[in-house]
Amino acid sequence: MLALSTWKHGFKPNQVVFDSISSGGSALDAVEAGARVCEADETCMSVGKGGIPDELGLVTLDASIMDHNGNCGAVSFVQGYSHPISIARRVMEVSPHVMLTGAGAERFAHEQGFMTEELLTDASRALYEKWKARPSGLKVRLRHSEESENEYVFEYEEDGIKKELDRTALSTNGSHDTIGLLARDKNGLLAGACTTSGLAFKQHGRVGDSPIIGAGLYVDGNTAAAVATGNGELVMRACSSYHIVEQIRNGVEITQTLQNALDRINNDKHLTDDMQIGLLVIRADGKWGAASIRGGFQFVVASDTMSNTLHQCNGFDFHPAQ
Ligand code: ASP
Repeated sequence: MLALSTWKHGFKPNQVVFDSISSGGSALDAVEAGARVCEADETCMSVGKGGIPDELGLVTLDASIMDHNGNCGAVSFVQGYSHPISIARRVMEVSPHVMLTGAGAERFAHEQGFMTEELLTDASRALYEKWKARPSGLKVRLRHSEESENEYVFEYEEDGIKKELDRTALSTNGSHDTIGLLARDKNGLLAGACTTSGLAFKQHGRVGDSPIIGAGLYVDGNTAAAVATGNGELVMRACSSYHIVEQIRNGVEITQTLQNALDRINNDKHLTDDMQIGLLVIRADGKWGAASIRGGFQFVVASDTMSNTLHQCNGFDFHPAQ
């Protein structure tokens, strides 16, 4: 059995995934349950309730889920529902489609009995107000402070020098970025899930890689499951999850598939040094790997031989596949 999740905020969800498969649950149920933990956690400001809003102050969510049989479901640009992963699963199970978006996805969610709620929290609203009040025309980037995980920094660049516009202390769990979860259950079956509020203050209407099957997530039960996090446009252009799985199908070793996926992303002419991509993969036989284009990508692993543990990719490299 194996559970992998992206980022430090994957710690709790990954434990939920592993507990679920340990007690005989399916990989599919487990990744959905894990994703829901993060979606409900208001201190996780990049997923579900409490997610950082778009440029209009609206929280718009993307999610996808896929099982070992190639069944998949996704929703994008969903507002007012805190568990897009479960709506995505419902799309997979009761609709003839793979993906629903915006008002159509919300209408479907309502028909399926999902309840709406306010997703903007005091903390995410406060960040939005600060972002909105930045000097006009100034391009700022939101990042966690290096000194304190509970602080966000609005950073900008002037004459090639990085400067801070503002700091905001928040009671967060130090989380950022999408959560992607992969699992291999007792029966050796694979599944994956990916859920996000997308890039902070994104353009209204923007959809990232997370709900795009083959970009943010891809599973082939006989081959591998892969998930991506980071600047979604890079992942979408490279179809990274599909790229990884397809190489494994063709017999390429995990480490080499990850290197090839990183190479493709690194060749993207839109790549800038403030962007990050993290990739996770589980092969059908249970071997796994992780990679990122630069340091700082954290992920969580739980397996038969390893209790739930936080790992880190150290700069432009990959974690040795087991
Ligand atoms: N991949 C997500 C997106 O582009 C964001 C992230 O993982 O940080 O929407």
